[in-house]
Amino acid sequence: MRRLRLEISGAVQGVGFRPFVYRLARRFDLAGWVSNTSKGVVVEVDGDTEVLAQFAEALQKEKPQVSIVQDIRSEYLDTAGFATFEIRKSTVGKIEAFVLPDLATCGECTLEILDPDNRRYRYPFTNCTNCGPRYSIINSIPYDRPSTTMSGFRMCSECRKEYEDPLDRRFHAQPNACPECGPHLELWNLDGTMLAERDDALRKASAEILEGKILAIKGLGGFHLITLAGSDEAVRTLRSRKGRRMKPFALMFPSILQVSEFCVVSSEERKVLQAPRSPIVLLKKRDKPNSSISISELVSPSNPEYGVMLPYTPLHILLMMEIGEPVIATSGNLSDEPICTDEMEALERLKGIADLLLVHNRPIARHVDNSIVRIFKEREMVLRRARGYAPLPVSMEEESASVFATGGHQKNTLALSIGRNVFISQHIGDLDTPQALRAFSEVWNSIGALYNAHPDIIAYDMHPDYISSVKARESEIRGIPVQHHIAHVYSCMLDRGVKSPLLGVSWDGTGYGSDGTVWGGEFFHITDGTAKRIAHLRRFRLPGGDKAVKEPRRSALGLLSELYDDPVKLLPPGTFSREESDVMKRMISSKLNSPLTSSVGRLFDAVASILDLHQTIEFEGQAAMALEHAIGNKMTEKSYPLEVLSPPGEPMVIDWAPLIKGVIMDASEGMDTGIISAKFHNTLVEGIAAVAETIGERKVVLSGGCFQNVYLLRRVLDVLENLCYEPFIHRSIPPNDGGIAPGQVMAALMMNSE
Ligand code: ZN
Ligand code: ZN
Ligand code: FE
Repeated sequence: MRRLRLEISGAVQGVGFRPFVYRLARRFDLAGWVSNTSKGVVVEVDGDTEVLAQFAEALQKEKPQVSIVQDIRSEYLDTAGFATFEIRKSTVGKIEAFVLPDLATCGECTLEILDPDNRRYRYPFTNCTNCGPRYSIINSIPYDRPSTTMSGFRMCSECRKEYEDPLDRRFHAQPNACPECGPHLELWNLDGTMLAERDDALRKASAEILEGKILAIKGLGGFHLITLAGSDEAVRTLRSRKGRRMKPFALMFPSILQVSEFCVVSSEERKVLQAPRSPIVLLKKRDKPNSSISISELVSPSNPEYGVMLPYTPLHILLMMEIGEPVIATSGNLSDEPICTDEMEALERLKGIADLLLVHNRPIARHVDNSIVRIFKEREMVLRRARGYAPLPVSMEEESASVFATGGHQKNTLALSIGRNVFISQHIGDLDTPQALRAFSEVWNSIGALYNAHPDIIAYDMHPDYISSVKARESEIRGIPVQHHIAHVYSCMLDRGVKSPLLGVSWDGTGYGSDGTVWGGEFFHITDGTAKRIAHLRRFRLPGGDKAVKEPRRSALGLLSELYDDPVKLLPPGTFSREESDVMKRMISSKLNSPLTSSVGRLFDAVASILDLHQTIEFEGQAAMALEHAIGNKMTEKSYPLEVLSPPGEPMVIDWAPLIKGVIMDASEGMDTGIISAKFHNTLVEGIAAVAETIGERKVVLSGGCFQNVYLLRRVLDVLENLCYEPFIHRSIPPNDGGIAPGQVMAALMMNSE
């Protein structure tokens, strides 16, 4: 007879872990206790050592579906002579337990809201320990009802009974509620007048959507704009009101069955769509939808994919049942602003966009957008980390100093390391608007407060003017600036647990280089604690600087100016007016307002412009996406020549001159754009292979926004694996600038330990 003590850390609070242990102990007929602690859950049981081992094994195997066990420490002690098994009161100390993300409605709760005999029939705020809001309602931890935005609602006696019964699915379900005691819905017009409430509001809202109206709906982590995806008119109106001409809108479908009528869905994609984290999944459109209903061409114009999600709250389940066909569900904001969370703010900010508002009285503690993922080679690749993922950490091998990182400028997120966990905030967005800056400050304050953190180091981007860097430098904590593309590489190393030495390939649109030029086509040799830039793309000028991001034609002109005396002639007719091209040429020759760049993203832009896919764009990456999508089913193993120059004492240079000459030649001979694009992509992959061959490190880490390009990814993995390299791509941290903050944490720790 011995006493077994288990200390379980991870996401084990608020997920029904203690009742699970309670039931398990009863099954094995063991006496003892279970309790929440600052780190997670502690269990002690007396028993026969063989039974105790079986108990410990069952605990790991059968743990609640939504819990995440990071570590179990077990020890055998002398028996304590327990008489019964009990759930003991929590002890609070230094907080290290995870805050859970918001979880999609579970199967059991779904059945309840659809059952006319259940007291929660059609109740949009139904939840239990297996599902429902978490991160979006938590004000502080430990996670208890008074520290959530449910603190203003008093549980009725029936809800209280569930909440206090260790054997109930709602035992300590903090947002537990019912129609008697919980939040309720209201339908408002644009001056805030209530038109209907409760179930009536829900039914009227769905009827209005079916009529083609645009509704602003308060969901879990903020407002979304919802309108019928099948109506050209509704989608056109939404586009014009939101100021968004081309960028694809995400869709919500009533069922997985209907998703498969419009999209090709693999079993892995189906699994992720239906998982509690419930992200938007990028899915390939079917050539011919197999459905009696339709989706407007305007939803995702000239794009082979839809962003798709399933209803993730009871409110969405009930709405979608009434509507019965796909709707657009897009962030409630003007383009590029963070999502709006408060109904008064929504009235103000969304009055020019929405026709009506469906609101409720459960406050949202913090904005949490929808997450976006792609399934690549049967595994998830997160492109935007928010609802369902944030603020879960990615863990390091060892405990280290605490670092807080303020991220980049675009797709901003924040990160904080405590112990061996790197917590990553939800997606905040581009830090260009007052709303975004406010969200940045709010997340900054709340992430520190939630974990009661006292970081030793603050890491930030090297860019002198990024607001995220300016704010970091104002802090009293010791600062460590991190170069953008080095942060990308470390971000992927953290994501995949890869150790140096290795070759880091960091390709994206823009980042401030340590020589003051604009980087974006970088290769680093990462060895113990150092990152040495060993190669980069040949540089060219960007006439107009930042303006080039929105105008691929500027990248084309800058690039062609390096090779030709009259570059405008090589661009499609009408790309520039006479005056425009004169101004640009002068900028380039005088080197004024035309910084040098080694960006692969801008090289993509230049080629897209030469091939006349896009001369100006609306959203980041649009031209590069068009170039990738142009390939379609066109296959070729051909490529263009590429030169790798080795100037003495300097990084190698990947020279695109022969590549660009080849593109121009093929285009002038009328070769299919898709084939030219495939050859272009293949050439870039050969460039990576060529650098890898000269460095000779077996491990190759691929990071930066360019590695969201599926053709490029597939090809580079194939080629490197064939050459016996071990390539690593992002999985749970975005390859784009959403991954900069955790990368900064890792890079700073590395520099700090030197
Ligand atoms: Zn549930
Ligand atoms: Zn109740
Ligand atoms: Fe970047």
